[in-house]
Amino acid sequence: MNDISPQAGAFPAAARCATGCGDGEGSVQVALDPALRIDGAKVFAIYGKGGIGKSTTSSNLSAAFALQGRRVLQIGCDPKHDSTFTLTKRLVPTVIDALEGVDFHPEELRVEDFVYEGFAGVQCVEAGGPPAGTGCGGYVVGQTVKLLKEHHLLEESDVVIFDVLGDVVCGGFAAPLQHADRALIVTANDFDSIFAMNRIVAAIGAKARNYGVRLGGVIANRSAAVDQLAKYNEATGLSTLARFPDLDAIRRSRLRKSVVFEMEDAPELDAVRTAYLDLAASLWAGVEPLAAVPLRDREIFDLLGFE
Ligand code: SF4
Repeated sequence: MNDISPQAGAFPAAARCATGCGDGEGSVQVALDPALRIDGAKVFAIYGKGGIGKSTTSSNLSAAFALQGRRVLQIGCDPKHDSTFTLTKRLVPTVIDALEGVDFHPEELRVEDFVYEGFAGVQCVEAGGPPAGTGCGGYVVGQTVKLLKEHHLLEESDVVIFDVLGDVVCGGFAAPLQHADRALIVTANDFDSIFAMNRIVAAIGAKARNYGVRLGGVIANRSAAVDQLAKYNEATGLSTLARFPDLDAIRRSRLRKSVVFEMEDAPELDAVRTAYLDLAASLWAGVEPLAAVPLRDREIFDLLGFE
């Protein structure tokens, strides 16, 4: 299996964990408890800049896997807790809500307190988040995986999709990468999305030193043109797995609390459905890991023509 090279430039020595508490060279994050490893299921972590359409992409992809007969578990890892909205047609209570309800005694929780069935039988979980400005989002993801493991929901799934909070700003937001086999990045063809993607590539490279996660590829979203993305892919070694246009029908599907498979037939939506089904089929068959090397910030400005 190919490896992913770490980002050019090492993590500053002063910021490293001096006590061996981290999850490897250059990290200050607590190592993954081996008891929380997800065995059996194919695990995908979906990243991308905030507002780029990760939840829409994740939900439609989950639906496509389910329509192909897979048992799917989607875990929303954003405090906004709307990842599974189009699958369940509501904002379901989060794991944090459920834990609050039992005064943080997880042993009192039942599966139905935090897992909700959505379109085509997709099992939906929203990790939720701590109140703004307090607590740790990464900790919440860890607690969610722990609960799912204790209730045997992970081994009863064929596919697990983590839909992860926008931009990678710290090790906590990268926690799902400890569990994933393949990380997929949703992006549009603009500078900000590609800049955010570059940081995600670096985060995946860092996690790949100590965990099995590898870059699976890029999902181009809401993009008529892909010229900027093509330049970035070529410079870094990334490649695009699927491309979804900026269609009003896709936006409407979210307003209608529906995945694209529930919308009325239209030629442009047929193509989108086929693209999601093709993406699910190729991910299930297995995509080769990409040996991508992120750029330095200055290099992205130069590459994409900004001063
Ligand atoms: S910034 Fe990251 S590591 Fe720090 S509390 Fe938030 S999620 Fe946790």
